[in-house]
Amino acid sequence: MDLTLRGVVRRFGTVTALAGIDLDVAEGELLTILGPSGSGKTTLLKIVAGFEFPDEGTVHLGNSDVTVAPPRSRDVGMVFQNYALFPHMTVAQNVAFPLEMRRLAKPERERRVAEALALVELAEYGHRLPRQLSGGQQQRVALARAIVFKPRLLLLDEPFGALDRKLREAMQLEVRRLQRRLKLTTLFITHDQEEALILSDRIAVMSAGRIEQIGLPDDVYARPGTRFVADFVGESNLLDGVARSGAEAEAAGFGTVTLIAPAGAPGARATLLVRPEALRIGAPAAGLANRTTGTIIETVFLGLSVKLRLRLGTGLELLARLPLRPSEPFPLAEGDDVPIGFAPEDVHVIADAGR
Ligand code: ATP
Repeated sequence: MDLTLRGVVRRFGTVTALAGIDLDVAEGELLTILGPSGSGKTTLLKIVAGFEFPDEGTVHLGNSDVTVAPPRSRDVGMVFQNYALFPHMTVAQNVAFPLEMRRLAKPERERRVAEALALVELAEYGHRLPRQLSGGQQQRVALARAIVFKPRLLLLDEPFGALDRKLREAMQLEVRRLQRRLKLTTLFITHDQEEALILSDRIAVMSAGRIEQIGLPDDVYARPGTRFVADFVGESNLLDGVARSGAEAEAAGFGTVTLIAPAGAPGARATLLVRPEALRIGAPAAGLANRTTGTIIETVFLGLSVKLRLRLGTGLELLARLPLRPSEPFPLAEGDDVPIGFAPEDVHVIADAGR
């Protein structure tokens, strides 16, 4: 393991920002910390960087215990949301800064700066000042500065938060390519679940100072371990269910739901997760084990797909997402009464002791 946290606790007065974090990041891995505002992401990052120290627990980089080591001894590169470039220095001087701090000789410095700027496709921009660059370019300079000294760990804290959507998507792919090419062990922080799903080798979902779940993007999305994770990662229909005997559950506002396996001991409470893209609407709902009817109360066109809000006779609302084909008009409209269905294999059961 390249980065190991064990039992990390951090309190600020009565607030417990981190309530016991265990985390392992493998060499060359990009692990994303995903969580809502206030869940402790930044505190965790600061502890890894050495700007904060834990009240309890340990931080190891490789075999070294760095729990109380100062930032400069940790060999960690960082990129934050607000570029934090030195405004009076040129791009090349900004990128050279960490090398000067490390007292590298000038020829080696110049070679490495050129290499890092080429990696972020800014080879021609070394002489410019930060204010003469676009936001995306400035963020690429920050990235070049973070990797120029070949850090053993790269920390990215919402690095694309200030960029517009298109640029953000381009930067996400660029960082991913660079991170893979250089095999950089990376801790990435975001509250944007889509970004996490795109970028990550693994995702750790945080809530209230704890890691709720850690796993492959596909696992976290398709098999969330808690209701919080199901709700936070992607859009969801969460049905309050009670297990019946056999592979069936009773869902509030829906009725009997057929599953592929028992939802628990008969009578046990469980949350049934059905992702919006798993719902079938209209003719495709015919023949599915789980069927009902509802009224379309809202349609939102999103380019490649359309999002439908449906209301059943019981008042239960469901969200569906259907693919759109540009060549065909969308056949459904608000106010339509439609069959709704989903397959047993599209129901993920979350055992819910706390509910
Ligand atoms: P955001 O996405 O909004 O940046 P976050 O997940 O990064 O949120 P943190 O900044 O780590 O969350 O904060 C976690 C909790 O610790 C919050 O309740 C916050 O108010 C509290 N906290 C963080 N730093 C301090 C501090 N220096 N003093 C007091 N409380 C703090």
